[in-house]
Amino acid sequence: MDLLSIEHQQQIKSNLRIAIIGQSNFAADVLELILERSKFQVVGVFTIPDKGSREDVLATTAASHNIPVFKFASWRRKGVPLPEVLEQYRSVKAELNVLPFCSQFIPMEVIDGARLGSICYHPSILPRHRGASAISWTLIEGDEVAGFSIFWADDGLDTGPLLLQRQTNLEPTDTLDTIYKRFLYPEGVKAMGLAVDMVADGTAPKIVQTEVGATYDPAMFKVENQQLCLAQSAVGIFNFVRGLDSVPGAVATVVLDDGTEEQVRFFGAHLYSAGPVKDGKALKLKGLAKPAWVHEGGLLIEGTDGAFVNVRRIKRGTKMINASDWFKQAEHQPITDFSEDELAKKVQLASIWQAILKAPIEGATDFFAAGAGSMDVVRLVEEVKDAFDVPLENENVFMAPVFDEFFDQLVRNLRQGSGGAGGKQVEYKGFQLKANKRDIRVPTQLFINGEFVDAEKNRVLDIVNPTDETVLCEVACASTNDVDKAVQAAHKAFFGSWKQVSARQRGQLMLKLADLMEQYKEDLATIESVDSGAVYTLALKTHIGMSIDAWRYFAGWCDKIQGNTIPVNPARPNNVLTFTRKEPIGVCGLVTPWNYPLMMLSWKMAACIAAGNTCLIKPAQTCPLTALKFAELSVLAGFPPGVINVLPGKGSDAGQAVADHPLVRKLGFTGSTPIGKHIMKSCADSNLKKCSLELGGKSPLVIFADCDLDKAVKHGMSSVFFNKGENCIAAGRLFVEDRIHDEFVRRVLKDLRSMTIGDPLNRSTAHGPQNHKAHMDKLIEYCERGVAEGAKLVYGGCRVPNMKGYFFTPTVFTDVEDNMFIAQEESFGPIMIISKFNGSDVDSVMTRANRSEYGLASGVFTKDISKALSFADRIEAGTVFVNVYNKTDVAAPFGGFKQSGFGKDLGQEALNEYLKTKCVTIEY
Ligand code: NAP
Repeated sequence: MDLLSIEHQQQIKSNLRIAIIGQSNFAADVLELILERSKFQVVGVFTIPDKGSREDVLATTAASHNIPVFKFASWRRKGVPLPEVLEQYRSVKAELNVLPFCSQFIPMEVIDGARLGSICYHPSILPRHRGASAISWTLIEGDEVAGFSIFWADDGLDTGPLLLQRQTNLEPTDTLDTIYKRFLYPEGVKAMGLAVDMVADGTAPKIVQTEVGATYDPAMFKVENQQLCLAQSAVGIFNFVRGLDSVPGAVATVVLDDGTEEQVRFFGAHLYSAGPVKDGKALKLKGLAKPAWVHEGGLLIEGTDGAFVNVRRIKRGTKMINASDWFKQAEHQPITDFSEDELAKKVQLASIWQAILKAPIEGATDFFAAGAGSMDVVRLVEEVKDAFDVPLENENVFMAPVFDEFFDQLVRNLRQGSGGAGGKQVEYKGFQLKANKRDIRVPTQLFINGEFVDAEKNRVLDIVNPTDETVLCEVACASTNDVDKAVQAAHKAFFGSWKQVSARQRGQLMLKLADLMEQYKEDLATIESVDSGAVYTLALKTHIGMSIDAWRYFAGWCDKIQGNTIPVNPARPNNVLTFTRKEPIGVCGLVTPWNYPLMMLSWKMAACIAAGNTCLIKPAQTCPLTALKFAELSVLAGFPPGVINVLPGKGSDAGQAVADHPLVRKLGFTGSTPIGKHIMKSCADSNLKKCSLELGGKSPLVIFADCDLDKAVKHGMSSVFFNKGENCIAAGRLFVEDRIHDEFVRRVLKDLRSMTIGDPLNRSTAHGPQNHKAHMDKLIEYCERGVAEGAKLVYGGCRVPNMKGYFFTPTVFTDVEDNMFIAQEESFGPIMIISKFNGSDVDSVMTRANRSEYGLASGVFTKDISKALSFADRIEAGTVFVNVYNKTDVAAPFGGFKQSGFGKDLGQEALNEYLKTKCVTIEY
């Protein structure tokens, strides 16, 4: 150990003249640290020349402190130091050279040129891993500890005496990046500061390196050294890949089907012991005896010891892909047929990039590797939007950071037109709906994993227009296997692409989708009208309007889903922190009825997606068209494949397959009570999946004599006839106080006589056709049964005479007794069932109103606030309307009691239906 005399130390402490030789952020941070110590004077910084117009950050940092900067391309030629370089170095009269990170060869005249010598940072525990790629070799060799050395430079390769060393245990998850970022960089900078202090204090040791255990390892910047040898153990492969992760990546060669070879780089390796993979596809790698397997988690490679290593990411050319997407990527061809105009735009785009990066732009220029930060991303997006009038998000830059890819993406967007909204047009087989003065293209295939596809065996359903009974089109009819494909896609998306989308981005996607629904609302309402018989104006306002509202409302929740911190008993003397996390459930199955096709989809799916799940929906077989048009819009909005899947089909097979599927973890069902019960059993038997059931109703509406009668008649009418009675919360039974009964009935009949029945697309129509024939036939039967049981049919009860289409006359029954079938069972059609009650006997009417196994909704009309509140207290129903009816809102929870089901749609409560709570407890 060489210690300086006290006198000498005092002299050094006061004004030690330091030269920094090196480059990079690491060197810049060391410089800043040394400058914090006022006793030192940095007299010169020697670094590499600018790359284009971009200078090394060490130079910039030094200049900002007015330190002389010297930029040398090289310090010597043909082994001889360049005299002009030596002269400039000597001009600063440095007493100590500090080399924090230096990629250049520094001549001994410089190393020994400073009075106190040169101290140098090296990222390994010397004498192990001498050479330029010490960190990589620490990992490749499977060392248990990593670390760094600060040594006195001499004329050997990392052989000089040691000044200081630090070490840390190597974690199984470490890569070259992580070990550098978490330890070698931050601790290295601090240690360089300490080393300079020790030199100044005269306490810096010079410990001669032993030759025992010394290794000289090859430099990994040479391509021939980056080749991954696959004829070794799984651990060997794993260590090699992580030793080169993320720069430059381990090189492997894929042998393609036609025998040609493609060189790729591997990243994100981990040892794999989770057993055989499902649905793997073989991939031949040069030098590997057995095939590797592309599966949903990556690329699985078997080592010579029979153990496995999995590789998550592969770089093909300049593009990084998920290894699991290998075969899909092969299908994605880059654009080659650029027009002259597009090529001119390429030049313009290059100048935007150049202005931001201050460097020449080539096809392979990587925006981030060239030094761009997050503000540069914002600037790029804004400048490109401005220049080309194209929708673009920050995400697009992250997805395509290489110039050529970015341009490719820009051209795709431009070709797609401004409706693109960041997503893409999807191709499909469909039919051309010409109606309502519109010409609308509607998909007719299943929507699975972001694509429209035919059903297994090309099975189809006939879709009938209820207004004229013609077949509108054929739509693909999903089988159990088709459902399985959709579930697998949703499962993969849930654990893959959808997980990468942050909560806020999720909300943005939903808002985009809502905007597109708004943009296409007339098309959607027209389709709904033709497909389900909904009156167009109502379809516009409610079916589609409330669907859009639901997507916007739930979009707002995405980044507000929070858990709690809970004050549990501490485990003294320690303390305990307990908190909950609200997590998505996974793949959700949604099964919906035909009365509000798109609205039922939206009520469920918007909450489900906002909560972070992926889903598949089986819409009702009679009217799946808006769901398919919606699927098309979801691609335009930019939803990743697999997040939303739409499978028209029959309840008995496709619907049942959803309820039975073991990977579906939640079922959201709206439909009839008998099917709801059946589904609940299937959910239990299959995998005990969570379910919520929005089922049938027979909602009571009680009208007291002290009501506003005009209002009561108006709302009483809509409580039954709204959406032709195909309304789950329709008032299934009206109890009208005897004093106003006859007047109420008279006014209802008067209004009914003037109700316009006809083509739902006609703006003056108030009442359209029933949804489908079987339903209309059931309504006729229902009325016949009412008459047979002795109820008084005062209006309707039959099909509208002399009219094509499933038009059923709005119907009124009076004198209905509690024990009659029509008093107990839901019609789901435009049939008003009226019973009388005596105003003195409020208790009895409450008992009668509650004497039902259903409990979906209810209503009361009275001006007496006490009566109204007492009704709200006592009624057994999930929804209570007072002096109004059908007033639902996307922010208000909606769902029934008793055999009307459980679980809420809409409002904050709906989110909980699609979330699970995890409780985390930490002792500290
Ligand atoms: P449904 O017969 O129960 O059918 C509802 C959905 O379930 C349809 O998509 C149907 O497929 C499917 N399905 C049938 N059998 C199935 C099975 N075994 N497994 C899985 N799915 C199956 O009801 P609906 O006739 O379409 O609709 C009317 C009912 O819905 C009424 O009772 C009404 O009150 C209720 N509803 C309730 C609410 C609410 O929020 N509470 C809202 C609207 C409607 P198919 O298309 O093949 O029939």
